[in-house]
Amino acid sequence: MIDLRLTKIVCTIGPSSSSEETLQQLILEGMDIARLNFSHGDHNTHESVFNKLRKLSDSLAIAIDISGPKIRLGKLEEKSNLAENDKVQLTPDNIVGIKNLLPVNYPSLSEEVKKGSFIFMNDGFIKLKVQSIEDNLINCVVIDGGEISSHKGINVPDADLSIHVPTEKDLADIEKACSLETDFLFISFVRCVDDLKQVNEIVETSLKKPIPLIAKIEHQDALKNIKEIIKYSSGLMVARGDLAIEVGPAKVPVVQKNLINLGMSYAKPVIVATQMLESMTKESLPTRAEASDVAHAVFDGADALMLSSETATGKHPLQVVKVMNDIINEAEKDFNCTVPDSKSDENPIGFEIGQAAMNLGKRMSAKAIIALTQTGYSARMVSRNRIPIPIYVVTPAQTTMRSTRLLWGVKPILHHYETEYEQLVYSSIHKLQSEKLINPEDTVVLVAGSIVGLAGKTNTIQILNVQETLASKH
Ligand code: PEP
Repeated sequence: MIDLRLTKIVCTIGPSSSSEETLQQLILEGMDIARLNFSHGDHNTHESVFNKLRKLSDSLAIAIDISGPKIRLGKLEEKSNLAENDKVQLTPDNIVGIKNLLPVNYPSLSEEVKKGSFIFMNDGFIKLKVQSIEDNLINCVVIDGGEISSHKGINVPDADLSIHVPTEKDLADIEKACSLETDFLFISFVRCVDDLKQVNEIVETSLKKPIPLIAKIEHQDALKNIKEIIKYSSGLMVARGDLAIEVGPAKVPVVQKNLINLGMSYAKPVIVATQMLESMTKESLPTRAEASDVAHAVFDGADALMLSSETATGKHPLQVVKVMNDIINEAEKDFNCTVPDSKSDENPIGFEIGQAAMNLGKRMSAKAIIALTQTGYSARMVSRNRIPIPIYVVTPAQTTMRSTRLLWGVKPILHHYETEYEQLVYSSIHKLQSEKLINPEDTVVLVAGSIVGLAGKTNTIQILNVQETLASKH
């Protein structure tokens, strides 16, 4: 019986959850990664939440989510309702909008949509059809009506928009994220690998070291370029909100499954996001369908599940984490995910060691897999195999401790590294036993690089009895 939750929880922090007391409770309820969504709020507010989180926990990972080229409505005079067959004009002018004249924050839109294109607003609930374009005004008719208000998102799935990550706003947000030394950058609306390369260049110039980039997959171009994207990034997010508008809701479950499988093949973590427990923004219980959605993301083998408005603006930020935790724990009792067979051309030794460790762990009924790692590489190689045995990542690097928290099945432990390999094995086992994570009678499987200090060179696998290892110290 495993008492470690294997699938991780990402919580978006917002007005409902940003007090120190609530953040502390979220950590206690099981938040593994806190997400600060830079699409909303200002830098000062985010910085203050970031600092509170760092003060509360040095093992919690923090992700900053940058908005990318998301097109939005400008400011509107007031909320209003669009009805079917209403006529609406979209303008690039920086005006305060009224019901039938709506400002849009993307000046080139009139050059990049065509007569007949569909424009979606407000999470796809409102659908407009372009009837004509006059200068920079787009004349539309409402196909599906609904409520509109300031700054709602806009999607144009059938236009080949020229705007890419990073936008002007992204540049300022990335600078801020670098100054805070965030653990992850979540990048919205990635369409090709160059988007990520550009962000990485900015990070490396500013911080002189990389930040793990998680590519949010929410555009059809990203699906076309997914192999290059996954190879370059540190992981993916199935950003189901915008993805459903861009490819249609019917395709989302299959895309989710395929992206999780790809993540397992490439040993890269995958987060499933959006509307997982949406009704709990208001209610204290989830719907049956939501409980099932969370469980099925677990059965698919997702590394992590994300809460958005549920924890950011919802009425029950703590209760929703408790509910997600309970559903995951129940689902994991029946966990049996099929991992695609794959190989690695880049680092076949480490990849095979990860697979062998999990096979040995299963065959030997090992109580734990221990990965000694500076970069987190061997943790990924082990985790990708989805064998329900706790993976204790022993690392001397605080950044690795926090970033490996996203990986399925991983519990990271910070530990000072000895220079001699044998000493390091002994002291790691000792540390885990003193923290009561393993017992003297346990068999454990350990993976590491035999040359201490040489990063990313996993080449060693050992089956160890805890007591005998501890007794071996002379
Ligand atoms: C999404 O679209 O599902 C998503 C996670 O992105 P955001 O919350 O930034 O809109």
